[in-house]
Amino acid sequence: MLSQFSYARATSLDEALQYLATDGARLCAGGSDLIGCLRDEVFECSKVVSISGLDELKGISKIADAGVRIGALTPVAEVAASPIVQELYPGLAQAAGEVASPQLRNQGTIGGNICQKPRCWYYRGEFHCLRKGGTTCYALAGENQFHAILGGARCYVVHPSDTAAALMALGASARIRGPEGGRLVPLEEFYVLPSTDPHRETVLEPDEIVTELTLPVPARGFRSSYRKVRARGAWDFALAGVALALQLDGDRATAGRVVLSGAAPVPWRSREAEQAIIGQRLDATTAQAAAAAAVQNAVPLKRNGYKIPLFRGVIEEELLKLARA
Ligand SMILES: Cc1cc2nc3c(=O)[nH]c(=O)nc-3n(C[C@H](O)[C@H](O)[C@H](O)COP(=O)(O)OP(=O)(O)OC[C@H]3O[C@@H](n4cnc5c(N)ncnc54)[C@H](O)[C@@H]3O)c2cc1C
Repeated sequence: MLSQFSYARATSLDEALQYLATDGARLCAGGSDLIGCLRDEVFECSKVVSISGLDELKGISKIADAGVRIGALTPVAEVAASPIVQELYPGLAQAAGEVASPQLRNQGTIGGNICQKPRCWYYRGEFHCLRKGGTTCYALAGENQFHAILGGARCYVVHPSDTAAALMALGASARIRGPEGGRLVPLEEFYVLPSTDPHRETVLEPDEIVTELTLPVPARGFRSSYRKVRARGAWDFALAGVALALQLDGDRATAGRVVLSGAAPVPWRSREAEQAIIGQRLDATTAQAAAAAAVQNAVPLKRNGYKIPLFRGVIEEELLKLARA
């Protein structure tokens, strides 16, 4: 049941920041995740602050010699369909196209997608779990088939966003506005592991807003992709996903990132996989070695051991596909 809250529709970024100063206020972009959380009583909220009318936070544009800016309120569907994104960052276009259903991609924004709450059934259900201020992660001894195999100390949720993995692989940063001014945070430093603080997912303070995402200019020979495996053909979150962003010189990878989705409480950058790739020819031997390295430190729970061979297969296949692209 929805608890009582007041509602404010901001007409400017400054006004939104003023509304957010209220204790217990929550930011609402498309509302596709927030309203579900309120209905399921995942957290309390005294005031819903809608920013959906702020046109300055919408749209995708090239910044002269400095890459691309994506406004935080840009619908996920627009990111997937953008000719700029498709040309420069196909991995992001693919990830956005894999998010949920067409309706949710039209309603949900890219800012909301990277800030959405985890999808663990204990966290979203009637359990006072560790993430909600309790003392126990119920997934540890419970139904943990969809939970983390990496980075899961104390709490074993997986990060639900497809686009966050692609953005992190592409070296994107989040521009953030708060009452004290602005800051630019690389996505790699945006997410918080439960071993650091199991009660938050990101470095955002409750009175801060992501205003845009910035992506660096891709160099010649740069390739990216996103591949997601899910239990159903219709909308579903990733059981295992991989975002690749590689710099190639001929058939040799000279730099790059490998980021896993569905693996950990944050989009998981696999430096082990990257080490196995960089400086090597992108062939079957390298792909196999990188896939094995990506899961070498995985610690599966009782019911999610299947994710290890699944990740190996997905990473190996996707690397070879990117090599042939
Ligand atoms: C049935 C279903 C299936 C889904 N499947 C997938 C999937 O397969 N892959 C996937 O990636 N996602 C999936 N999602 C998540 C969906 O994509 C998100 O709900 C959506 O992207 C969130 O965008 P929104 O604008 O509606 O966010 P909101 O619901 O408005 O906000 C979500 C959260 O982010 C915060 N927030 C929003 N915007 C900002 C901002 N600019 N700055 C700071 N904080 C902000 C809000 O306070 C809130 O906590 C699914 C959701 C549903 C309901």
